[in-house]
Order: sequence, then C-alpha cells, then structure tokens
Amino acid sequence: MVKPNMRIFILSTRTLVFLTLFSITTQQEVPETSITRFQEYLRINTAHPNPDYSAAVSFLNVLAKSIPNLQTRTLYLTTPQKPLLLVTLPGSNPSLPSILFNSHLDSVPAEPSKWVHHPFSAVKTDDGKIFARGAQDDKCIAIQYLEALRNIILKDPEFKPVRTLHICYVPDEEIGGLDGMAKFVESNEFKQLNVGFFLDEGQASTTNQYRVFYADRSPWNLVIKATGMPGHGSRMFDNSAMENLMKSIEVVSKFRENQFDLVKAGVLANSEVISANAVYLKAGIPSTNGNFVMNMQPSEAEAGFDVRLPPTVDPDLLKKRIADEWAPATRNLSYHIVEKGPLRDYKGRPLMTATNDSNPWWIVFKDAVEACGGELMKPEILSSTTDARYLRQLGIPTLGFSPMKNTPILLHDHNEYLKDTVFLEGIKVYESIIKSLTSFEGAGPL
Ligand SMILES: [Zn+2]
Repeated sequence: MVKPNMRIFILSTRTLVFLTLFSITTQQEVPETSITRFQEYLRINTAHPNPDYSAAVSFLNVLAKSIPNLQTRTLYLTTPQKPLLLVTLPGSNPSLPSILFNSHLDSVPAEPSKWVHHPFSAVKTDDGKIFARGAQDDKCIAIQYLEALRNIILKDPEFKPVRTLHICYVPDEEIGGLDGMAKFVESNEFKQLNVGFFLDEGQASTTNQYRVFYADRSPWNLVIKATGMPGHGSRMFDNSAMENLMKSIEVVSKFRENQFDLVKAGVLANSEVISANAVYLKAGIPSTNGNFVMNMQPSEAEAGFDVRLPPTVDPDLLKKRIADEWAPATRNLSYHIVEKGPLRDYKGRPLMTATNDSNPWWIVFKDAVEACGGELMKPEILSSTTDARYLRQLGIPTLGFSPMKNTPILLHDHNEYLKDTVFLEGIKVYESIIKSLTSFEGAGPL
C-alpha cells in the first residue's frame, strides 16, 4: 500500500507528465498555425470600395494547394479585378450531386479611428480576441473550411469522399452580389458542379448554441410620393402634398408598430415580421444657404422606406396594402417599389429551406453538428440578405451557418473580433460536417 504522502507525490508526478505532454501536443498541433493563417488572411484588405480581390484569391489558392488532393480554379466572370476561386475535393461518385460551401471575399469598410486595433492588423490580444474587419463576416469560415479539410486529410491521408465538395470564394456579396454569386450561378461552370446542397455564412450566437438560417428576408426599396396644391404658408386647405405624405407616414408607422409589437411580445422573431423603416424625407422649397422657404406649402413631398419581407409572407398582399392604405391614389399619393432580389424560386415556391425530416440534408447537417458536441438553436430567418438567395432561387437546399458561439454579434461593427478558441472549435465542427455531408449517399429533395 502506498503511503498517503507517497500517493500525493505519484499523483503530482503523473499530473506533471500529463501537463507536459499536453503542452507539447498543443504546441505541435495545427491550432497555432491555423490562427496564424487566419490572421494573415484578415490582413488582406478586401473592404469596399477598393477590395484587393487578387491578393485574397492568390492567398487562398496557395493555402488550398498546400492541402493534398485539393484542386483549384480561378474564374473571371466579369472583369480581371473580380476573380472567383473554386476549390474542389473530388468525390468517388461524381454522378452524385455535389456539396458547395461559400465564403465571400469582400467586407464592408472600416473606420480605423473608431477601432482599438487597426482593422487590418489582425491583432490577437492576450485573451485570444483577434480584431479585424471580416473576422466574423466572413473570413473565419473561408479559412475554417480549408483548415477542416487539412485536418481530415492529415488524420486520414486515404480520405476519399463519396460526394464531391466544392468551396467557392466570391466577390461583391456586400454590394449585392451582382458581379459575384449572381453571375456565378448563371455560368456553365456552376451548372457543371451539379450542386445538391449549399452551405453559406450565418451569424454569431451569444449563447452556447450555434445559429442556423433557413431563409433570408428580401429587401424592397419603397418610395412614396405625394403631390398637392401649392399655397401660401398661412392658408389652411385640404390635400396639400405635405399633409398627404404625413398621413401616409402615419399609416406606415402604425403598421410598423403592430409588427414590432409582435416581436416585443415574443410572438415572432425580428426576422419573421415585415420591417418598414423610414430612411429619408424629401420636401420643401429650397432658399439660400441650405434653408427652406417658410411661407410656401410645397406641391411635392417624398419619403423612402427600407422594407424587408420574410419569405413566409405573401408579397402580393403587401403590395395591395401599399396601394390601398400606404399610398392610395385617392390622396394624391403614388409609389414605386424596387425589389432587391427574388422572393420565389424558379418553381414559384417561397425561398425557404426545410429544416425538418422532409429534408435529408438538414438531418445530415444537424446530426454532424451534434456528433462533435455542438448544439443548434431553433432555425431562423436571417434579418438581412446574403448570396444564399441566388441558390435558393434555383431550388437548391441552402443553410446559413457560421460556427461562432458565445460571441457578440459584431458584423459590420467597429472592433469586430473573433476569439481564437471559438475559431478553432469551428474547424472541428466543419470537420464533422464535411465528413458527414460528403459521405451521405442519399438523394436530397428537389
Ligand atoms: Zn457576410
């Protein structure tokens, strides 16, 4: 029998050996270099209005080529300044529809003076926060995809997926994707990929569960114009342009309040209601020095609204509401809607991906996240818009997912950062997802 003090000695020695081994392992494993590669990518300035796409694509190309079995192609669908990188891991059964992962190359601008660290320095603080524009949106997933593939192939050099996996790195998502994903999905190169399932970016989660998105809201730019009799500022009369516009704004505001009440009461999520926010007002007769004539009621007035529709609502009903209530012609109001993207797929179905048993891709995805210890929140509609809409329009099952949990939502914000531990955990999640999706031999819904 070991004496008590002897036992303590043995335990502490074991602990020491374990700790030494652990620290050697962590130093030798990929994590530190994954982080370094992430930082390096973040330092490439791909913010609008002058994103350096060439530098980003050549960096990712070199990175992909450093991983065995990956093939790369650079496509130029518009100008030489807007390349698109396609990375492919061929599957053993090319007749099966492929998997496509997406990451956009660009990011929104950053104002360095408002940041604690320069937005393109990718500084890592002592507590592991990596500060950079794009750290969350969405350069993390760009590198995580490749690092996950690197780990899978390192652990199993014989790894051969059944289904082909492609990753596309596309330009211009942040400015609508017209020269990016919109062009790509129309190209022959895209058609040849025979995509069966698409995985795009998501958003950070402040809880311990990951968020997943099955739809985007569609934006409408709505302009309401009022006309009326001009008149002296002192006169009271009906139907002035200003009066008509203000009545219109009151009606829109009431609708907005009702929708917002549903959110505040917890009945619907923010992204599940129609938002209608006034974004500009234009009226008045200009005088000198940027002022307005004060004794004249103008004959025209105008207001602009940012309207967002979840795919669950009927756009024709909203159009009727706008025509009948928000801008009725009987009150000298007219309106113009610019629909910033499709609302229905090519078969006329709402742009939504099923997140239930009817969609085998959903089951495979969900099981893969759970298999590596991850948990998913209830699937959500994204409040804003991503490139995913172009794929959903083609009827391709599409999910939005960026594995960032316990992380504040900082996309497009000052001091955007991602913690190293969260980034590394995300790589493990993608390892599980890639292995499951590429070995899934069933057919997806069409
Ligand atoms: Zn994004």
